[in-house]
Amino acid sequence: MKIGVISVQGAVPEHLNACRAALDDMGKRGEVLTVRHLDQLRSVDCLVIPGGESTTISKLLRKFGLFDEIIKMGSEGTPIMGTCAGCVLLAKEGGEQAERTSTELLGLMDMAVDRNAFGRQRESFESPLTIAGLDEPFPGVFIRAPLITKAWGGCHVLSVYKDQAVMARQGDLLALSFHPELTGDARLHRMFFDMV
Ligand code: GLN
Repeated sequence: MKIGVISVQGAVPEHLNACRAALDDMGKRGEVLTVRHLDQLRSVDCLVIPGGESTTISKLLRKFGLFDEIIKMGSEGTPIMGTCAGCVLLAKEGGEQAERTSTELLGLMDMAVDRNAFGRQRESFESPLTIAGLDEPFPGVFIRAPLITKAWGGCHVLSVYKDQAVMARQGDLLALSFHPELTGDARLHRMFFDMV
């Protein structure tokens, strides 16, 4: 299994480590590689889009010629996990903030997000989350996180925080508004690899 981590900006090394830890836990052999070029992208079996700054990541995906190929791969069944800014990019609708910053979204998932939904006062916090498919709560690390404000069609909510959606799945696409790669807990990376 070849796992690609989009490496244009954001929490890349943390995801590379979490992917390797998940593979080890599962006793699976696999290769985890950074993706910055089209040939690298085309070679992977699944893809992680990390957190960071969604406007910047979006622009860099265009600049490096990866944007349309990610849409193509995601539509044709390549599993993709987007965390935080990656979650924003997977959405079809990015709300007022995405419009104001002219952030082009990949639009692969039937969901709307609200960027920086927790505002400035509570930019970052941690909270245990109940997640469909996990027996024990998962440590949710939220950093200037988005919320999933609407899910329709084939998009299903897997976790909520205070009645608002923070994780969703559509086919083999997984969107998390928090940062599993910063927790030392590889269960959600394992959940993702189980889909591959
Ligand atoms: N607030 C950022 C954005 O909307 C996401 C923050 C993050 O990925 N930690 O792009």
